[in-house]
Amino acid sequence: MKDTAKHQGLRNQLVSQLKEKGITDLRVLDAISRIPRHLFLESSFADFAYQDKAFPIAAGQTISQPFTVAFQSQLLQVKKDDKVLEIGTGSGYQTAILCAMGAKVYSIERQNELFKQTSVFLPKLGIRPKHLSFGDGYKGLPNHAPFDSIIVTAGAPIIPSPLMAQLKVGGRLVIPLGNEHQIMTLLIRKNETQFEKHEFGEFRFVPLLENKN
Ligand code: SAH
Repeated sequence: MKDTAKHQGLRNQLVSQLKEKGITDLRVLDAISRIPRHLFLESSFADFAYQDKAFPIAAGQTISQPFTVAFQSQLLQVKKDDKVLEIGTGSGYQTAILCAMGAKVYSIERQNELFKQTSVFLPKLGIRPKHLSFGDGYKGLPNHAPFDSIIVTAGAPIIPSPLMAQLKVGGRLVIPLGNEHQIMTLLIRKNETQFEKHEFGEFRFVPLLENKN
C-alpha cells in the first residue's frame, strides 16, 4: 500500500485533533504528521488508521492510540540524538515516531512474531532504529545502558528496577502503572538514589508480561 495525498490529509486532521486534546510539543506533532500509520495496521483496519483509536496487531497485541503515543512521547521530552529505550516494540509505530524525532531508539519485544515482522518492516519505510531486540523488557538492555529516557508501552504492575538503574541522572522514565487500567507515570532521576514521581491520569494498555523465553 502507498502513502498518498489523501493519507497526508487524514494525518493533518489527526494532528489537529491531538492539538485539541492537549498535545503541544511541535516535534511530536510533526512526527505524527510524517509517519504513515496506515502502513502499520493489518489491511482490514487501514481505512481507520487516522482515527484516534487503538487497533489489534499480530500475536494478540495492540497498536497504541495516537493520543497515547503522542502523550508518552511528549512526556519523554526527546532531544535529537537522545538514546531512548522502548519496552514493547509491537507494530513499531511508537518506535518510528521516536526515530522521526531524531532519537537513537533501542526497542525490546517479547513476541517473536512481532519482533521479526517489525525488524523487516521498519527499514522498508526507511526507518532505522539503533537496535531492535527480542527479549524480556523487564530486564532492559544493560549492555547498552545508560539511557536518556525510557518508555514502556505495555501496562506494568510494578516499575522494573533494572529500568530505573539504566536511566541517566536527569533522565525520564514514562510507564503506565497498574493491572486492569494504568496510571501514566513519569519518573525523573534526580541523582543516584532519588527519583521524582508525577502522575497523569488513566490509560489502558495490554499487559507487560513476564519473561516467556
Ligand atoms: N509500542 C507498540 C505498542 C504495542 S502493545 C506500538 O506502537 O505498536 C505492547 C507491546 O509490549 C506488545 O507488542 C507486547 O508483546 C509487548 N510486551 C509485553 N510484555 C513485554 C515484555 N516483558 N518485554 C518486551 N515486550 C513486551
